[in-house]
Amino acid sequence: MAFQRRKVFTMSQTHELTLAAEMLRASRRIVVFTGAGISAESGIPTFRDDGGFWERFPIADFASWRGVIRAGWKNPRKLAEFVYEVIQPIADAEPNAAHRAIATLEAHVPTTVVTQNIDGLHQEADNSKVLEIHGSIFGLVSLQGTDCGVVTKPQLRRMATRLERIRHGWLALPRMLWAIRRWIGLGLRGIHRPKLVLFGDGMAQPDWEQAVQAARDCDCFIQIGCSGAVYPAALLPEEAAAHGATTIAIDPQPTQADVWLSGTATEIVPQLIELVSTT
Ligand code: NAD
Repeated sequence: MAFQRRKVFTMSQTHELTLAAEMLRASRRIVVFTGAGISAESGIPTFRDDGGFWERFPIADFASWRGVIRAGWKNPRKLAEFVYEVIQPIADAEPNAAHRAIATLEAHVPTTVVTQNIDGLHQEADNSKVLEIHGSIFGLVSLQGTDCGVVTKPQLRRMATRLERIRHGWLALPRMLWAIRRWIGLGLRGIHRPKLVLFGDGMAQPDWEQAVQAARDCDCFIQIGCSGAVYPAALLPEEAAAHGATTIAIDPQPTQADVWLSGTATEIVPQLIELVSTT
């Protein structure tokens, strides 16, 4: 069984936690908005915190489809390294105590999860309403953007193993294309691509429109592990507050909200939800 840290709270932190639990209990509709931070304790590093991820893989080359195609052509080994670093931790990850606690919140108050993550961990934790505004690493779409299949976790794991081997040896480009063939549609199902929103793309639909509506309709908006640096996703907390929702933020870094609970997702979320369900 996974070891779960239990944070010891100071008096003022206990007060904030109780206040947040009261805000949640008083709500008729809740939005839980998650970023990379909630999955950090499942072993999936965030891009911003992880020792210079964007310095090793410059945003200009790796954060847009055009950049990725150019990078793959010029330096397939580097692209293989990038894709490996993104998919390998996701292929091995499992939901943590924070994902699981959020799934239990549904039993108390109607809850919509809006996630910027592409890792599928909220669904794996059994949340029934999850909107993936940046897409999913497991989804496939046609070049017109229509859903056209999925890759499974074991397939993602095999992809990662093949990509890792490309660090050494010859023929990097064809080996990389072969490794990611399930993603890019070099097969019988025609041409497709992973369902991921990169820089310059529109947000994943209909999830984004539904997320904006959910933010407007909720009376408590709780954000967990979001830097607020990624737009337009970062507009959702403002949209919720502008429509009268109370706001809670859970993050080790100071975050704008009515109540900021300082700490990691697994330290705070399970204790908060326990308070909501027991009092
Ligand atoms: P982000 O904007 O999602 O911010 C990460 C936030 O998490 C920071 O505020 C940080 O203080 C906080 N954090 C770090 N560890 C935490 C913990 N244990 N508990 C709670 N909060 C914690 O950051 P990003 O990494 O730059 O991601 C940008 C985008 O890239 C995301 O919006 C997402 O689309 C994608 N991404 C997804 C995943 C994933 O699917 N797991 C991982 C990395 C990046």
